[in-house]
Amino acid sequence: MDNADYAADLEQLHIAHALSAQKQSSQDAVQRVSNTGNVHCLDCGFKLDTERLKVKPGASRCVDCQTDFERLHRHRHR
Ligand SMILES: [Zn+2]
Repeated sequence: MDNADYAADLEQLHIAHALSAQKQSSQDAVQRVSNTGNVHCLDCGFKLDTERLKVKPGASRCVDCQTDFERLHRHRHR
């Protein structure tokens, strides 16, 4: 292997790592947080209960939408 090939391989490796890191961070940032710090439901935009966020800190939907989402999701896999 010459140096140019080796450099190209390294570059590919870096790109792959960067892409997977990017994917990870976008998955982490699914919550819709307003500039007042309130978290809003992804589906209906309703402000999420602070109590709900205490119980489920990563919640990105209100109880109703989450229930619907899970129901749909389960159906799709049947
Ligand atoms: Zn909702």
